[in-house]
Amino acid sequence: MESNISKSFVLKKLVVLDRDGVVNVKPVPPSRYILEKSAIKFNSDVIAWIARISKRLPVCVATNQQGVGKKLLSRKNLDEIHSRINLEIRCQGGEELHYFVCPHLESENCLCRKPKPGLLIAALDHFNVEAQDAIFVGDSESDSRAAEVLQVDYLDVEELRWRIKENPNFPFNFEK
Ligand SMILES: [Mg+2]
Ligand SMILES: [Zn+2]
Repeated sequence: MESNISKSFVLKKLVVLDRDGVVNVKPVPPSRYILEKSAIKFNSDVIAWIARISKRLPVCVATNQQGVGKKLLSRKNLDEIHSRINLEIRCQGGEELHYFVCPHLESENCLCRKPKPGLLIAALDHFNVEAQDAIFVGDSESDSRAAEVLQVDYLDVEELRWRIKENPNFPFNFEK
């Protein structure tokens, strides 16, 4: 069974990923934020997939990190966390991810905090890709709403994981 999404996904030029719950395991309450690199737990199937497909097309991250605005997390620690993720991907032969971050408090009412589309717009601009040529992989309603505003195709991470199991190079069909 092939859904429409996998047909259109083959033609995509950019993959945007949410971070927590997609690239890495979502922090378990009461800790709502990953505050240091030692606290990252990777979703290893997703990391391996990123390493493979990042050689074919650009892959980046769009993430709300309100912990920065709350001063729980410094920019330095955030950068270290993202370097740690990139190291993992590089070790598996992939290309480093570019990160688009909303550091603001929800109360600041910025234009980038998902479900607003600002981070996705920044990613499309940076890679010079049209909305219909991108896909966004997320795990929450705010992710799917941000994608919907721009009419970017949205894929839930659980569907992605299921598809990777069927085809490790989803949506492509290349050998190793
Ligand atoms: Mg998430
Ligand atoms: Zn923001």
